[in-house]
Amino acid sequence: MYQALLADANFHGQLLAFDRDLAAQCRAAGCPDCGGVLHSANYRRKPRGRPVALGEEHDRRFSFCCAVDGCRSRATPPSLRFLGPRVYIAAIVVLIAILRHGATAPRMRELTEVIGVDRRTVERWRTWWRDSFTATPFWQVARAAFMPPVDPGRLPAALIERFAGDDADRLVALLRFMGPLTGGRMRAR
Ligand SMILES: [Zn+2]
Repeated sequence: MYQALLADANFHGQLLAFDRDLAAQCRAAGCPDCGGVLHSANYRRKPRGRPVALGEEHDRRFSFCCAVDGCRSRATPPSLRFLGPRVYIAAIVVLIAILRHGATAPRMRELTEVIGVDRRTVERWRTWWRDSFTATPFWQVARAAFMPPVDPGRLPAALIERFAGDDADRLVALLRFMGPLTGGRMRAR
């Protein structure tokens, strides 16, 4: 089910389309510091975890830079594909953590081999969900919207269950929900 999603070019195309919309909104809003015009200043990324060949447009993390001299602030929109500095696509960071719950050892081994994630990375993500994600200001606020409360020990499985639709719908909904964690409005150095 989820594995088939990751191998589906249409699914990745959908995520890219959402990212383009988010980038267009970010650009239309102008510079967060001075209101100046934003120019494209994308990052090149080569995210791991896509068992399907995709065009090079999938390797771009959309980002903008203010055109005004003396400001040059950077504005990076939220993304459904890139979760912070992680080298794997966001969908993998979510799915591996979900599948890890209740997966047998051989099944987990098969999965990590298909996607190419080693055991140590899987453990690191588990720790991230349990300790870092739950400590973010974003989650501290967002969790109040869920009733009954989401079990923090079962993240992200306990979270994706709260969204409606088929597997793809729910995964996209969760990635959208996490958007505020992925964007940044950093000042240029
Ligand atoms: Zn500016």
